[in-house]
Amino acid sequence: MIIPKGSKLTGEQIAQVERIANDFDCSILEIQGRNRCVYAILGDEDREVMFKRIAGLSFIRRVDMIESPYKLMDKRSGLSDHVVKLGMEEIGKSFPFIIGGPCTIDPDQPNLYLETAHALKECGVNALRGGVWKPRTNPYSYQGDSKALEIIVQARDETSLPIDVEVMDLEQLKIALEAKVDILQIGTRNALNYSLLKEVGRLSAGSDTSILLKRGRHVASPDEFIAAAEYLVAEGNPNILLCPRGTTPALDGYRNHPDESITPLLKNRTWAPVIVDPSHSVGHSDFVKACSISAIAYGADGLCIESHIEPSKGIGDDPKQAITPTVMKDLIACCQSVWENRYKA
Ligand code: PEP
Ligand code: MN
Repeated sequence: MIIPKGSKLTGEQIAQVERIANDFDCSILEIQGRNRCVYAILGDEDREVMFKRIAGLSFIRRVDMIESPYKLMDKRSGLSDHVVKLGMEEIGKSFPFIIGGPCTIDPDQPNLYLETAHALKECGVNALRGGVWKPRTNPYSYQGDSKALEIIVQARDETSLPIDVEVMDLEQLKIALEAKVDILQIGTRNALNYSLLKEVGRLSAGSDTSILLKRGRHVASPDEFIAAAEYLVAEGNPNILLCPRGTTPALDGYRNHPDESITPLLKNRTWAPVIVDPSHSVGHSDFVKACSISAIAYGADGLCIESHIEPSKGIGDDPKQAITPTVMKDLIACCQSVWENRYKA
């Protein structure tokens, strides 16, 4: 990875670096971090002479060769001071960043979504979630509807909160980008769909769009999870939010096996913020508050929580998993207090 002396290389400087890289069959990719750009060397970068020639240019601070399966996501990378920003908020700075909203937006009842969005804003939620297209285990269950995208965009217009929408394929990705969705969610089923990860990273490169990458139920190790995120950054988008959401086999009584305890391991290895999803982890509204508090105690930067103004009227996971805005308000207060005290005696 190439780290420039200034915050960004000029076009002529990039051309100079590229000429050297090309001599070794490598190319250069600019990655726009919050404070500076870094430049990934694509190709077989194990070329000492190339490194020395690039490092010798007057405008280069240093060239790092990080021995890691995820060079850009690694805590030692030039992106280690990258801060993911959503709206006005810097994730992980002073309070748990809360993404809240229904599992699934009912396209036939826009008011239910809009009223939920306003109620959640009142509670202090920082971003709105809502499933437009849904990955359903049963092919005969409701699969989603592009009409729902208009509803969540309207909710953003009315509340000024950023919005989080899951995309499962290239077509949905393009529609979501066109609508300027603030957080592209990659669900647990696509967590290791490397072709999709590459497209998401590539098409959102250079923008402010964030990517919430869920941990696959089948993702075994923290390294595999971080390496999946590396695909996104290596295509040019470093605005990553890592989202543990429970794994298999499920703990008897829960929907999955809660995995918020992975957070310290992730934080040890990577600079990316961690946003835990307690809803899919435990799978029942009664247990969401305990799981949320535990996630913050483990060091999470935020939470992604299914919430609905009237869960019984919801579709998808909402009747079972969604918490009401009243519970959300109490949960946020508890999490804030854990946040403020978590590293104190
Ligand atoms: C969701 O967020 O509604 C969802 C389907 O999540 P996951 O991919 O974690 O199952
Ligand atoms: Mn859901």
